[in-house]
Amino acid sequence: MGGYNGYNGYKVNRKEIMIGRRACTSTRHFRRFLTDGDAAILAAAGDGDMSAGFHNVLDSYQILHALGYRPDDCLCCFIGKCEKHNNVD
Ligand SMILES: [Zn+2]
Repeated sequence: MGGYNGYNGYKVNRKEIMIGRRACTSTRHFRRFLTDGDAAILAAAGDGDMSAGFHNVLDSYQILHALGYRPDDCLCCFIGKCEKHNNVD
């Protein structure tokens, strides 16, 4: 079974990661596999504190959502820094 290179370049196997029920808004415990890259991102977002980073990532998404960003959008296009798509406003 092949994996794919995730957004952070780490080889991941999504089947392994996606086992379990899909979380809903009543979920209070959110246990997920973190790649080394995921952990590094959360640590960076929290200045070394992964819990603070997790909350900072949530705060960041809340702001992006309020500005109109949606999950299907290319984040790089949304912030005007995309080199993959040639969107011209
Ligand atoms: Zn883009």
